[in-house]
Amino acid sequence: MDSRFDVLIVGSGHAGAQAAIALRQGKFDGTIAIVGDEPELPYERPPLSKEYLAGDKPFERLLIRPAAFWAERAVAMLPGRRVVAVDAAARAVTLEDGGTIGYGELIWAAGGAPRRLVCAGHDLAGVHTVRNRADVDRMMAELPAARYAVVIGGGYIGLEAAAVMTKLGKHVRLLEALDRVLARVAGEPLSRFYEAEHRAHGVDVRLGAMVSCIEGDGSRVTGVRLADGELLPADLVVVGIGIVPAVEPLLAAGAVGGNGVSVDGQCRTTLPHVFAVGDCALHANRFAEGADVRIESVQNANDQASVASKTILGQAVAYYAVPWFWSNQYDLKLQTVGLSTGFDATVLRGDPGARSFSVVYLKQGRVIALDCVNATKDFVQGRKLVLERVVAEVAPLADVARPLAGLVRG
Ligand code: FAD
Repeated sequence: MDSRFDVLIVGSGHAGAQAAIALRQGKFDGTIAIVGDEPELPYERPPLSKEYLAGDKPFERLLIRPAAFWAERAVAMLPGRRVVAVDAAARAVTLEDGGTIGYGELIWAAGGAPRRLVCAGHDLAGVHTVRNRADVDRMMAELPAARYAVVIGGGYIGLEAAAVMTKLGKHVRLLEALDRVLARVAGEPLSRFYEAEHRAHGVDVRLGAMVSCIEGDGSRVTGVRLADGELLPADLVVVGIGIVPAVEPLLAAGAVGGNGVSVDGQCRTTLPHVFAVGDCALHANRFAEGADVRIESVQNANDQASVASKTILGQAVAYYAVPWFWSNQYDLKLQTVGLSTGFDATVLRGDPGARSFSVVYLKQGRVIALDCVNATKDFVQGRKLVLERVVAEVAPLADVARPLAGLVRG
């Protein structure tokens, strides 16, 4: 064994960083190391498709903590190293370079890798994903020379990238295979609002658009060919079609999982002394009525990391945090609380025309989630409605003169 740590954290993203922070906050006095395949210290990922891509925020301001913080708390940073295998019986991981690191407890916080297109031309220069700093730096280097950009995928990352590139003066086309953007995460009123906003800002939003292939001049992208034959010129393509959870070494070691690695309420995998947290952790979520889900959000990464760390510290905790998320596009701040999956009704609160409103999601008359656009008060007050799954009538929910806080009883 080349080295050994009492707690070894794999992945230096939000969840990995928070796991180490929570351990030290809880007075854990054993050795801790974070091994991550990126060269940087832990940094915030959300600005990558927002202020960082826009050039409004330098990388130094993305760091979750400065270098001195980790040194002062004796958290060993092992950047630029990839874990390729886990041996749960020997309590050791193997790195890509053949080295091994032993552990007392392992926290797997490896997130996920961007899902790639499989069509011809997917690997041409100029075709980008947006997951880490290197991805965005490559894209930013090409942006000044690019005139036509095509974004494939109408989820949050694709929409945010489209908003930034439009602001930078690019001619942007956004392709969504389904019949509305954000179809997997939001109700129709929100989708239609964002489609209209992007169109008003000059984005050519194409719904039901199927990509046939990416065309190039032999090395670099020149366009995107649609299934109906149309060729969209492109100097730059952004692919935002989701992630594949980074769990292969754990599954190969025998952990139960599939679309992520399965964890219990304390974020334990089925392997002894191995926890998993963040984007890669498949867990039964109370706000999804106990269904197994992976949640890709900073909230989930931080809260699950805290639960794993407290469990290691011997505290009795379970993961019950209310899910929340945000997205910034143009001057619109979207804040989401709860999980809208499985809703059977929506209530529109406020006027999308005034660019400040909320969509309230109901299931069997109970509030399960809210999407709040430039409506922070609804977001803050709506949290309690979601937490308590409040039964609410449509009229008071729709009445902006009545604060949501007033709908919580007892
Ligand atoms: P990550 O942050 O992905 O960290 C995992 C780390 O592990 C990475 O550094 C990865 O390279 C490394 N790794 C993977 N495999 C290995 C291995 N085998 N060995 C060593 N290291 C490995 N969430 C929000 O709540 N709001 C937002 O507005 C928002 N915007 C986003 C915008 C973008 C562009 C992206 C990409 C994500 C955004 N998210 C947002 C999602 C949020 O960033 C993620 O949910 C969060 O980063 C998950 O944290 P994590 O620690 O689980 O994974």
